[in-house]
Amino acid sequence: MKKNKTCKSRNNVISRRDFLNGCALSMVAGGSLPPLEAMAQELVDSPTLPVDYYPPSLQGMRGSHEGSFEVAHAMRDGTTWQSVPSGESEYDLVVVGGGISGLAAAYFYRKQNGPDSQILILDNHDDFGGHAKRNEFWHEGRMFLVNGGTLNVEAPSQFSTIAAGLLWELGIDRTRYFEKNRKMFSFYRDMGLKSSMFFDRETFGSDKLVVGYNEQPIEEAIAQSPLGDDAKRDVIRLYRSKENYFQGMSAEEARSQLGRMSYRDYVTKVVGCHPDVIKLFRASFHGSLVVAPDAIPAIYFRDNGFPGFDGLRLNDLPRDLLANEPGGQHGRENSTRANEGDPDMYFPDGNATIVRLLVRSLIPGTVTGSSMEDVVTAAVDYSMLDRSANDVRLRLNSTVVNVNQDEDERVTTTFVNDNRAYTVRSKAVVMACWNTVIPYLCPQLSAKQKEGLAYGIKSPLVYTGVLLSNWQSFVETGISGVTAPGGFHTRIGLQAALEMGDYITARSTNEPIVVRMSAYFDMLGSGLSRREQHLEGRNRMLATPFNTFEYHIRDQLTRVLGPSGFDDERDILGITVNRWPHGYSYSYNPLHDSEEWAYTTTSERPAIVGRQRFGRIAIANADAAASPHTDAAINEAYRAVVELLESNQAISF
Ligand SMILES: Cc1cc2nc3c(=O)[nH]c(=O)nc-3n(C[C@H](O)[C@H](O)[C@H](O)COP(=O)(O)OP(=O)(O)OC[C@H]3O[C@@H](n4cnc5c(N)ncnc54)[C@H](O)[C@@H]3O)c2cc1C
Repeated sequence: MKKNKTCKSRNNVISRRDFLNGCALSMVAGGSLPPLEAMAQELVDSPTLPVDYYPPSLQGMRGSHEGSFEVAHAMRDGTTWQSVPSGESEYDLVVVGGGISGLAAAYFYRKQNGPDSQILILDNHDDFGGHAKRNEFWHEGRMFLVNGGTLNVEAPSQFSTIAAGLLWELGIDRTRYFEKNRKMFSFYRDMGLKSSMFFDRETFGSDKLVVGYNEQPIEEAIAQSPLGDDAKRDVIRLYRSKENYFQGMSAEEARSQLGRMSYRDYVTKVVGCHPDVIKLFRASFHGSLVVAPDAIPAIYFRDNGFPGFDGLRLNDLPRDLLANEPGGQHGRENSTRANEGDPDMYFPDGNATIVRLLVRSLIPGTVTGSSMEDVVTAAVDYSMLDRSANDVRLRLNSTVVNVNQDEDERVTTTFVNDNRAYTVRSKAVVMACWNTVIPYLCPQLSAKQKEGLAYGIKSPLVYTGVLLSNWQSFVETGISGVTAPGGFHTRIGLQAALEMGDYITARSTNEPIVVRMSAYFDMLGSGLSRREQHLEGRNRMLATPFNTFEYHIRDQLTRVLGPSGFDDERDILGITVNRWPHGYSYSYNPLHDSEEWAYTTTSERPAIVGRQRFGRIAIANADAAASPHTDAAINEAYRAVVELLESNQAISF
């Protein structure tokens, strides 16, 4: 069935509940006091969350949800709080931030100091995991999962011994994983589905879907686009030309020149293409650098196989350059090296699986089951996270506003929970939160260290999960995903076909399936640097209400799939928008940062200057490696804990 249809559903607003924070907590303590206040007054033993507290199944606006950031922003703007002691005994370790790095820090600390170490983990969100959160949809008694943030274990064979060792100890067995999931990416291809490119009328003059855009010669693909003749001719020239635009330059000079020039400038000014040509590449690095070609050095495009460089005299990057750094280097990679070994591992809820395994290991009784397969569907009892009987306590909805190295070699941490401020004391603290907040939390640090911490601006990006009742329209259109370089969401795709224990994604087109949609707030054409674009993009993201996201979800799906029978009102069962205004860690590039920072591991990099231990306060988090990757988060946790151990030997208690 084919019919033309426009989205008519701006007012058909999905129901949502996004106000868990605060409400749930105040239900628990009995009487009129919030639980922590009651505990501080020695009226209750332990603050607990109610047994029906379960944030993963909330829909609507998630990620940095309302209630998670207001305290931190008030602190940034100068608010101070009168605090009282929380009434708890001194901890061995307080961890600021309950993402993969914070949880891994608790894990490593226990390994080094014994399982009875007393640890408190504080996080400002209503759920644990930091970026590595999961979204759960339920339909007719069946669970449908998707990652809310951190997607996959990227290039697991390149993980350090520390990071790979942690995954192994948690029960993640790559051999077993790939026995079931080796075909996850070829499943749709084997059904005959292709990738595609959607040209939208607002950017390109008329709507046009080109199925299999990247799977045919550029001459045939671009002929189907609505680009004008001049632009089409220039696209073909960009792909096919063997001209050396840098006549007389050595290979080193050409590389250096391309590092200091954006791809947009290279394509439009050096190659001389029509300005519409660059629009095709707007989303090429969205998934890694979150900006468009105006803020990415041309050399990153060249090193990742994009067109326009065939006639230039250039050498490849050394094979082992940055080989021991975490992650794929986001633009600086030698792709041969980065792709060696096992492919990426993707769990149905993304790296939230790693988080659940960490919580299961740290706090017995919270997460049922015993394997990497059963953790995917395991029940989680949030009321167990923060009990006084635990050796490790994980306290949600708690924003840290101050961490002070005391003169008696103890550290005092102040956090705000339910609008009240409390202090706890510990022998040490690991800051596994974001680098940019640390200067506000730790005023004792030197100006140089604060400058290093504040340098990187985290990228703003949005991952949305949409539960569809079926995916027949995808099959009829012949696609499993779309790149939409002019769209609000530039990437749309069916969730990978996965099997983990009892959980199996849809195999029949009549079954519900989760579609993943990603939005990036770049500022193509603004003339701003990457860091400036991230700051501005973050503001735009936070000012964008759920209804706007919902409108674009319905509108884009309808324009791509409507001709094949998609009906947004009938087919969409649920929407969860995960906004991450402080998303990927900032990685350096030669266009806007020092070339040395981008291509070497110099200790002059701001992240290294910023992450130095201060007394009994050590700094973890992926930002400390300037690498937006899970192995970075784990490696930095390990380093921070080792630094505390070393300082332990220097300081006697
Ligand atoms: C949308 C998205 C997709 C990603 N996909 C991938 C991927 O596929 N593969 C990959 O390897 N990496 C990916 N990443 C990168 C990801 O950041 C890392 O892999 C990893 O999850 C980072 O863990 P972390 O603990 O260092 O930081 P986070 O996960 O950011 O955790 C830090 C925690 O500290 C909390 N915090 C901050 N300030 C305070 C405070 N004052 N008080 C209390 N708590 C505080 C934060 O709210 C957060 O919960 C992705 C990131 C995003 C945003």
